[in-house]
Amino acid sequence: MITYAIGLKNRFRGITVREGMLFEGPAGWAEWSPFLDYDDATCVAWLRAAYEAAYDGWPAAVRSEVPVNCTVPAIGPEKAAAIVRASGCGTAKVKVAEPGQTLRDDLERVEAVRDAIGGGQVRIDANGAWSVDEALRALKELQRFDLEYVEQPCASVEDLAAVRRRTDVLVAADESIRRAEDPLLVKKLEAADIAVLKVQPIGGVRACLDIAEQIGLPVVVSSALETSIGIAAGVALAAALPELPYACGLATVSMFTAEVVDEPLLPVNGFLPVKRLVPAPELPTADQATTAKWEARFARVEALRGTR
Ligand SMILES: [Mg+2]
Repeated sequence: MITYAIGLKNRFRGITVREGMLFEGPAGWAEWSPFLDYDDATCVAWLRAAYEAAYDGWPAAVRSEVPVNCTVPAIGPEKAAAIVRASGCGTAKVKVAEPGQTLRDDLERVEAVRDAIGGGQVRIDANGAWSVDEALRALKELQRFDLEYVEQPCASVEDLAAVRRRTDVLVAADESIRRAEDPLLVKKLEAADIAVLKVQPIGGVRACLDIAEQIGLPVVVSSALETSIGIAAGVALAAALPELPYACGLATVSMFTAEVVDEPLLPVNGFLPVKRLVPAPELPTADQATTAKWEARFARVEALRGTR
């Protein structure tokens, strides 16, 4: 078992260092990296995903590479445009509705991204931060940048449905699926046009394929900010889906200041290859205290996993 700790170039979801564990099974290397604010019960699904990677491997791929978007954090317009240009991706996902920022900040950032990407696609992600009225007001303004879709404009499934009924912008559900007791409520309430699926929070590639089939919506596979070892599982899911009409949110290792593999899963011309990866001989391992913390966490979650 290896515990890693890697700095982020920009603060993302409140963190500046990403930590997690890597381990190997007969099928290959796996990553287990639930965010530190998640309780042990929540981390069980993440562990199931890691065991699938290590012991079962992934279902057969129907494509050899997957299109990906670049991700633009809630930063200023010049830096936002630079990220898009450096990525080579034809699709950009822009974070909006950041606490402490205004709609003007979002408009400037999205405009800069639209200019930088030209005829490519621009999607936005509010991470559930808007109320229904705020979402509708923001979308009315942001629509002029020709949005591909808005991801999780509001927190609740009911509010997503309310927004969807009153806007022309397509709505994607992310947190409403992976953090919900019933991931299919989105379907029942007709709350989304697109489902965002993440391998670790949902409990593995097969678990995601099951949800994709039941929910009956086009799927965008996204990362949970994993290293390339974990991203490979997301790529495996995207590669196994029968249809893949949208670029996936899997080009996130460029947000790290270091990596655990020699050849990170960085997009080339907007695509990631389908492949399995092994850790580099030298990688950014965590200090002793961090390693001990993760080993204790793993043991607790492993004990919980056995009871479910
Ligand atoms: Mg999201």
